Amino acid sequence: MSPNPEISVVIPLYNEEESITELHGQIRAALTAYGQPYEVIVVDDGSTDGSFVRLQEIVATDEHWRVVRLRRNFGQTAGFAAGFDLARGEVIITLDADLQNDPADIPVLMAKMGEGYDIVSGWRVDRQDTFLSRRLPSLIANWLISKTTGVYLHDYGCSLKAYRREVVKNLRLYGEMHRFVPAVASWMGVTIAEVPVNHRPRTHGQSKYGISRTFRVLLDLMTVYFLLSYSTRPIQVFGGIGLVSSGLGVGLGAYLSFVKLILGQNIGSRPLLLLAVLLIVVGVQMIAMGLLGEMIARTYYESQDKPIYFVREIVQSEEGEVG
Ligand code: UDP
Ligand code: MG
Repeated sequence: MSPNPEISVVIPLYNEEESITELHGQIRAALTAYGQPYEVIVVDDGSTDGSFVRLQEIVATDEHWRVVRLRRNFGQTAGFAAGFDLARGEVIITLDADLQNDPADIPVLMAKMGEGYDIVSGWRVDRQDTFLSRRLPSLIANWLISKTTGVYLHDYGCSLKAYRREVVKNLRLYGEMHRFVPAVASWMGVTIAEVPVNHRPRTHGQSKYGISRTFRVLLDLMTVYFLLSYSTRPIQVFGGIGLVSSGLGVGLGAYLSFVKLILGQNIGSRPLLLLAVLLIVVGVQMIAMGLLGEMIARTYYESQDKPIYFVREIVQSEEGEVG
């Protein structure tokens, strides 16, 4: 295999032993026809069935395949992250192992990448999953994620996506965050396109997720929203709320002082007093939290030499380069 293949296919896999042989055949057929050098990185996410044995058999016969076996089940996001770390290709394609995505779509994604996009996302136009537990939550989630992140995609949940190498190499994924990659990456300033892809019903094994995923995705969305909008300036969110809250509190307190000191009325039993105190305390805490956030943000970016910007390219004259 050439040291740096053009395409790296990254596949997280958890207990999919019945699908592996077919998956191997389909990927081989699609990519041999496509003709570019490729590698396939399967991340065995702690499978407890015969998946790993099957994978070993394939690695023994096909030099394109590499298998990373995680020590236990870390979840699909960790699977993607492990695959991204090892991928050497210029373009990284992600795919499910359960044959729901069609490897024959890989050339379609590559063609779109060829137009210069940094991310091409598959869109399962005719999605083969149940409506109530899958497609409806997903419709709502896609709408919500698009609205909050400002990156409008029809199908965040589709695993079949293509990324330019620099995009995934600069990402750190947590929680259930793999579906938010286009949104998180938008912060770097990437160009994103969508192409309709084929989707097939699951024929082997079982889905690894239930309806509870919807809630985990919602919580992750809050994190992503915060990271996208305020992670480099926390004082502006918390400080803003804090100023409004303590400002109102001080105003109310001043009014109550006027009532007590000038009008001479009793204020000890007034609910307004409680509200004034609460607003001031909350406000001060919010401002303190914003300041703490500022310090943490500095530690976060500076300790890892993380830039707060991403450069697409630098253009300068020849002399500039010498000097
Ligand atoms: N998967 C994984 N680790 C997990 C759960 C799932 O690697 O903990 C893999 C699974 O083998 C499949 C992909 O992630 O290749 C998508 O999972 P699944 O098909 O169960 O999700 P669904 O299509 O039902 O949304
Ligand atoms: Mg599936």
